[in-house]
Amino acid sequence: MADYRKMWEDLNMDLETHDLLCEALPGAFGDVYLSQENRPEGMGYYNFVVSEIHGVRPAELVEAQKKGTKVFGTFCVYVPDEIVFAAGGIATGLCGGSQFWVPGGEKVLPAATCPLIKASIGARLDRTCPFFSLADIFVGETTCDGKKKAWEILGQHAPVYVMDLPQQKRAKDVAAWADEIRAFLAKVEEVTGKKVTAESLAASIKLINGKRRALQRLYNFRKLPNPPISGKDCLLISQIAFYDDPTRFAEMTNKLCDELDARVKDGVGVYAKGAKRILFTGTPMAIPNWKLHHVVETEGAAVVGEETCTGIRYFDNLVDESQTTLDGMINALAERYMKINCACFTPNTARIDDIKRYAEEYKADGVIDINLKFCTLYDVEGFTVEKTLKEDGIPVLGLETDYNDEDAAQLRTRVGAFLEMLDA
Ligand code: SF4
Ligand code: SF4
Repeated sequence: MADYRKMWEDLNMDLETHDLLCEALPGAFGDVYLSQENRPEGMGYYNFVVSEIHGVRPAELVEAQKKGTKVFGTFCVYVPDEIVFAAGGIATGLCGGSQFWVPGGEKVLPAATCPLIKASIGARLDRTCPFFSLADIFVGETTCDGKKKAWEILGQHAPVYVMDLPQQKRAKDVAAWADEIRAFLAKVEEVTGKKVTAESLAASIKLINGKRRALQRLYNFRKLPNPPISGKDCLLISQIAFYDDPTRFAEMTNKLCDELDARVKDGVGVYAKGAKRILFTGTPMAIPNWKLHHVVETEGAAVVGEETCTGIRYFDNLVDESQTTLDGMINALAERYMKINCACFTPNTARIDDIKRYAEEYKADGVIDINLKFCTLYDVEGFTVEKTLKEDGIPVLGLETDYNDEDAAQLRTRVGAFLEMLDA
């Protein structure tokens, strides 16, 4: 990695503790990723982005800030990046996926909080992540209780703006979300000092749709009988989508997809014949959480899709690009974002329909329903998910885990038994 110490120092980071993280990550990445055979050459870009994860993109953001650009840190796929980019800002996803940050979060949060929240707060308070250190403002949302309360603690250390997400999907809730997007737009204009116009919003809707289209194209390869790219690699690409420059990300992902087209023509796949196909559903897997994909794929199965926020939920619907007025575009944004089916909604039957549809589209032999420990929403909804899938004859395995590696052997045993059952 290039030398970014000066930048980290200027960001007031805890360099000593941060060095420990920098030492651990290459080993973990090498074990999980570089050990794979027959990877597409286009993965070189994403390997590079991860190898410089705390350097190259933060340096770009710091440079942009020197020119007056504001950086908005976000934590949820309901926060519309389009508004931020339309006002000349940069939005960057910040969910923490490493156990390294969890103890820092536990200093201020109950231990019985989901690791994603603990890691996100810990990364900021311990000053061991440049993205968390450089953000000009954090954008939270009222999705789950843990997050709602965590924003209050984060707000004691940094500027935080919270979007009020409705918890039902009636017409009045979609209208309420459109109003909330309008209020967010006003806040973004205040922070950036720039006006959002119909032209700038139309351009940013196209920009973010471009990223979604590239991800849709990538995930379509996973529906093929022998995908030309692994589930682990696709997860990594989805995770990087949250913080990379959206124009470059779409370009690089489309370039990779061109290579995958050629691979398909040449009959190149990455899995052994007969590998069982697994669809994940449940809680998000923020970078560098690669744990369950690694377990499943090193057990000889193929992860063909994720019904998660670090998977299909992130890009499944596009924003209508035909609107010409600011108001029409905001309504189109509200409609698109309210199509995401997070367990924070009630009722949430559309999510179950999504899972069944994806299981069919991605030709899954079985579904693994993952729950991050202490996520009550997905845990409770898991009952209905598993019951419905079983009723439909789709084999399903429910797993609960966190960011620790202590349960890796136990998870491997359970996944192995599930795959054997699929084979029988
Ligand atoms: S799981 Fe729900 S709260 Fe978490 S990022 Fe996804 S939409 Fe947001
Ligand atoms: S995984 Fe569950 S508890 Fe954790 S932030 Fe997402 S919705 Fe909240």
